[in-house]
Amino acid sequence: MSQAKKIVRRKTRVIEIGSVKIGGRNPIVVQSMTNTRTADVRATLNQVRRLARHGSEIVRVAVPDQASGSALKRIVAHSPVPIVADIQFDYRLAIASLEAGACGLRINPGNLHKRWQVETVVKEAADRGVPIRVGVNAGSLKNSLLKEHKKNPARALVHSALSQVRTLESLGFESIKVSMKASEVSTTVKAYEILADQLDYPFHLGITEAGTRFSGTVRSAVGLGILLAEGIGDTIRVSLASDPVEEVRVAYAILNSLGLREGGLEVIACPTCARTEFDVIRVAEKLEQRLSSLKRPLKIAVMGCIVNGPGEARSADLGAVGTPRGVQIYVKGKRVRIIHKNLVVKTLIEMAGDE
Ligand code: SF4
Repeated sequence: MSQAKKIVRRKTRVIEIGSVKIGGRNPIVVQSMTNTRTADVRATLNQVRRLARHGSEIVRVAVPDQASGSALKRIVAHSPVPIVADIQFDYRLAIASLEAGACGLRINPGNLHKRWQVETVVKEAADRGVPIRVGVNAGSLKNSLLKEHKKNPARALVHSALSQVRTLESLGFESIKVSMKASEVSTTVKAYEILADQLDYPFHLGITEAGTRFSGTVRSAVGLGILLAEGIGDTIRVSLASDPVEEVRVAYAILNSLGLREGGLEVIACPTCARTEFDVIRVAEKLEQRLSSLKRPLKIAVMGCIVNGPGEARSADLGAVGTPRGVQIYVKGKRVRIIHKNLVVKTLIEMAGDE
């Protein structure tokens, strides 16, 4: 039985961000966020398109000012994927984003707390059928929750989320998803676990301010991995201080490793040792770079020698195994030829195209 069959996903309602369904039995949706200036339409659209090419199914853009709100209309109109507007502080920017055609809104209860402002935003979102993410962040909790946050940070996140969700519900609005992000993995995991027992809205998962490509990947893989393995999570965003495309690659790698999404490149590579017959590390890295936008599932094994090489190569779609005479190439479990070690990247990329 595969790992995927063992994960029983939490039962959640379904919401729709444009054409993308989140929650229920729908695949866990991968999303990312632009880091261009939103008012720069060309730069933002270029990044949105890159993210979409690499598999980001939703893209969020920050709307920090009216210029960004005005730019949003053209970004939404030309984006290949639904755009979510990220709003902090100023409810008028939420209204401007809805008027610009945003498919979803993210509001932060810590930064938008006047009830009449929330009511105004909710009414406009309801009229347009646009879902709202209640996006709680440990770094921007209301003052009234800071004391609790010191004692029990996960509870403080849950209280903030629940209070905002109840406000939306009291206005008759239920097209909601929820996130509660902290930079500590244990706090984030605990908060989602507590809230999972209290709500059936879909959850957006993330470890916030997770760090650089290296540290952020590790923290996100651990935190999101725990929750996803428990069946919690309907959409994920990996936050990295890096090119946002890396966020998408890491997100799919996390989902792939748990058997929750299929698709894209999976490179199996040995750690190398004194027996290594070719530059496994360079080949594996090159393949990951050059085939990073691959949508269909493709597993490639890059193995330094014949100790474990043939076994791994046989169970992959394509394989390369070092030998003293050259590198053996495998296709669908069969050894097809032997090539010079300098031709491995080129050969595997060509075969990935044909395969
Ligand atoms: Fe070393 Fe061979 Fe194992 Fe790679 S597959 S780590 S080269 S023994």
